[in-house]
Amino acid sequence: MPDSNASLYRQLPSIDKLLQLSDVQALVEKSGLHWVTENLRSMQEQARECIQQQGSLPSWHDNWGAKLVQNHDAMQESALKSVFNLTGTVLHTNLGRAVMAQSAMTAVSRVMSSPVTLEYSLDGATRGHRDRPLADLLCQLTGAEDACIVNNNAAAVLLLLATLAQGRQVIVSRGELVEIGGAFRVPDVMSQAGCQLVEVGTTNRTHLRDYEHAINENTALLMKVHTSNYSIEGFTAEVDGAQLAQLGQQYQLPTAIDLGSGSMVDMGKYGLPVEPMPHTYLAQGIDLVSISGDKLLGGPQAGIILGKKKWIEAIQKHPLKRALRADKMTLAALEATLQLYLTPEKLVSELPTLRWLTRDAEEIKTRAERILVPLQAFYGDNFIVEIEQCQSQIGSGSLPVDRLPSYAITFSPLEKHGYSLAQLAEHWRQSPQPVIGRLKEGKLWLDLRCLDDEHSLLQVLLS
Ligand SMILES: *Cc1c(COP(=O)(O)O)cnc(C)c1O
Repeated sequence: MPDSNASLYRQLPSIDKLLQLSDVQALVEKSGLHWVTENLRSMQEQARECIQQQGSLPSWHDNWGAKLVQNHDAMQESALKSVFNLTGTVLHTNLGRAVMAQSAMTAVSRVMSSPVTLEYSLDGATRGHRDRPLADLLCQLTGAEDACIVNNNAAAVLLLLATLAQGRQVIVSRGELVEIGGAFRVPDVMSQAGCQLVEVGTTNRTHLRDYEHAINENTALLMKVHTSNYSIEGFTAEVDGAQLAQLGQQYQLPTAIDLGSGSMVDMGKYGLPVEPMPHTYLAQGIDLVSISGDKLLGGPQAGIILGKKKWIEAIQKHPLKRALRADKMTLAALEATLQLYLTPEKLVSELPTLRWLTRDAEEIKTRAERILVPLQAFYGDNFIVEIEQCQSQIGSGSLPVDRLPSYAITFSPLEKHGYSLAQLAEHWRQSPQPVIGRLKEGKLWLDLRCLDDEHSLLQVLLS
């Protein structure tokens, strides 16, 4: 060991000395002596490594207390950071899909902080069922006879298939063998549920007779899957819900539709592209419809199966239901969200998803104009900062081809060798509340559709 290093090692303070520092003592009060000494020891270890490898004391040597406080704060910080979603995708799966209504938040915090009648009926000593109150609400909203709630729509489809068709055949159109990001692929879910997929028709055209010809004594279910993240255009044909329901009745086979996003209100009424609604299919005679809770519905991550009592009862009894059932926080958030649908007039103001989807392009433009000037003043030396028209997406496999006219603040680099867009995006990602935009056509776009608090955004962007 060189002599110079020996003198550095001697400068390392002892744990006892460090424990006398006032900010270290404050941390002992907060997080206990054990946490503090463990972390001081590991800092000593780091300091020794630094001396050994670089021949110098660590940069924080002159303030061990501050470094420890910094480590402590980092430990307290959540890995689930709040961000500004300015990507232009309203239901962004990687950013947690739907942002919830205030009433859903209140409901969740209430059921977290006190015992609740999750499976307890107050009208006697009988045990209640956790899905019952929500099922009643869902029946009222969709005309279903009964409902079942699980953790997400993928679980709903798995449970539905396992209950109705394990060891037997399920007939699906070749045009509807959907993959929904990640690992949800209709053929794979079928095999996980122990069903045999029978593909009928072609990619672009499937007729009723295709389903009919495939029916045999092993057939358990006729199924449709909503092509929620792509569309087949041109020379196409598909069998609609009413036709499939009728075929099912004729052969005494159940019918099901995996609807995915499944809106509970007519999106057309809000000037939005029309999305199929569960009650339409149920009214056509389809036995079971499954939807997600956190897509257009605007609630928590959940899967909802709606339909005939006879099938829902069988689904509720399947052993997989126990593994897939929703917890009290999900149920509370979903209940509060669905209650908003009882008063459709209030939906747009109460439900963030619908508020953002229906936000008028002119309103977005006005907001862009308000924040443009300070942004130009701050970034103008390095970037051209402008307002440009853009197209928001609904996202999460809802209404795949439709776009909503919107406005963005765009940033393009002034000179080739100055700050790059990648550096700018990186800088914003490192902010206390990261700003997530979209890189496109050599510019960084901040679509303001989902921005509610421009004051906080400016605070982040102007620092
Ligand atoms: C989104 C979607 C799913 C998966 O739903 P999750 O709630 O994300 O599990 C399944 N099927 C369709 C048609 C979908 O659109």
